Amino acid sequence: MNIVIFGAPGSGKGTQSAKIIDKYGLFHISTGEVLRGHIKRGTELGVIADSFISKGNLIPDDLMIRILEDVLDNEPAATKGVVFDGFPRTIPQAKALKEMLEKRGTSLHAVIGLEVPEEELTRRMLLRGKETGRADDTPETIANRLKVYHSQTHPLKEYYTSTGEYVAIPGDGVVDEIFAAITDGIDGRQK
Ligand code: AMP
Repeated sequence: MNIVIFGAPGSGKGTQSAKIIDKYGLFHISTGEVLRGHIKRGTELGVIADSFISKGNLIPDDLMIRILEDVLDNEPAATKGVVFDGFPRTIPQAKALKEMLEKRGTSLHAVIGLEVPEEELTRRMLLRGKETGRADDTPETIANRLKVYHSQTHPLKEYYTSTGEYVAIPGDGVVDEIFAAITDGIDGRQK
């Protein structure tokens, strides 16, 4: 079973992914975490990634798709099913994901869309910035990340609605109640 957890920055994708992988025994791939790992280790890729992330811009599609494919190829645990967190963020990435899964004889079970009002997103990211020191949770970068989300990532909602894979979840509330709505959404699609 492969799931995409979708939503704006600050919508709770990381928090809910952790709960989903626990309950369903899936493997978690957060492309943001993969990139931050490269930055921390000071790899060549990390240097490139940092030049985009620090401004709140997206890593170019061809590079991002290669990075994801590399993770899928090198993580044996990914064959048990994956929660994709932070990928896809553009329509070309969504098309590439479909192909990558098809090539591996599998498909998407659902796209869980966490829907959270904009003021709440900003509030959460500013709080996270204070608590964790995450470098791109600054007022200026947050504003650009939201702009980029609206122009490049939000169109995926319509895309996945048209494929019938999108499940809308109100993401503004108590963590466990949101998770209960997510599991209802996932189980309701159980084949
Ligand atoms: P996240 O941890 O998912 O909020 O991602 C942090 C940052 O990593 C984003 O603001 C982007 O700069 C970059 N990033 C993560 N995933 C992707 C992706 N699928 N495509 C392009 N850039 C990404």
